[in-house]
Amino acid sequence: MAKYEGKCSHCGKTLRSDKKDDIVQCECWKNCETCGAEMTPYLPDLAMNTYGLDDRRDLAVLMACTLHFPMFFSSQKPVEVVCT
Ligand SMILES: [Zn+2]
Ligand SMILES: [Zn+2]
Repeated sequence: MAKYEGKCSHCGKTLRSDKKDDIVQCECWKNCETCGAEMTPYLPDLAMNTYGLDDRRDLAVLMACTLHFPMFFSSQKPVEVVCT
C-alpha cells in the first residue's frame, strides 16, 4: 500500500508511493491549460536539425492541444513530486 505522498506544485493533486522519497511524475503537464484535454506531442520541423543530439532533443518537444485554432502550445514540463 502507498504510505507516502506528495503534492504536485502545479495542479495540487496528491500523488502516492510506497517508497519514501520516491519521485513520482504528475501527469498534469500533458493536459491543456485552457480546456483540460489531453494534449499530443508536437514535434516542430526544427527537430530535424537536432537529430543525433539525444540529450537535447527533449527541448524541441512541445505538447500541443489541437482543439484550438491556432493550436495551443504548452511549454509545461513534467512535474516531479517527492513523496515523503
Ligand atoms: Zn500535477
Ligand atoms: Zn485545449
